[in-house]
Amino acid sequence: MGKRTLVLKFPKKLVNQPITYKLVKNYNLKLNILQAKVTPEEEGSMVIGIEGPDKKIKEGIKYLKETGVKIQPLIQDVELDKDKCTHCTYCVTLCPTQAFIVDRKTMEVSLDKDKCIACGICVDVCPYNAIKLKLG
Ligand code: SF4
Ligand code: SF4
Repeated sequence: MGKRTLVLKFPKKLVNQPITYKLVKNYNLKLNILQAKVTPEEEGSMVIGIEGPDKKIKEGIKYLKETGVKIQPLIQDVELDKDKCTHCTYCVTLCPTQAFIVDRKTMEVSLDKDKCIACGICVDVCPYNAIKLKLG
């Protein structure tokens, strides 16, 4: 049995397709949708956790790629740059695992690395480039 966290990008033509349903039904995978959103350009992005036999996970990932879903490379490490962060809290609500902590007294934002699944969403949304990443 294995577990993977994947960041998926759906082109416009696939946004309304039952892709995750097929992952569960055809590959017998347990699926946990951690975050799903559609951008203004109507592209979809989704962070999912999948669990099942290793062989089925591989087959499911192959199916995703064949349908045209892009799988973002896994990020190995995420760092919050305290010199650049303005504590605007924009990333806080978008993080699927609530890995950002807001100190209610000072309103300072910090990152709990133990909760971070390295999905990269905060890297994309931070207006001040305050999040550094290391690609795997
Ligand atoms: S979005 Fe960027 S600047 Fe704003 S709190 Fe998050 S890391 Fe800091
Ligand atoms: S990469 Fe950013 S958005 Fe994703 S889990 Fe880690 S802190 Fe949250």
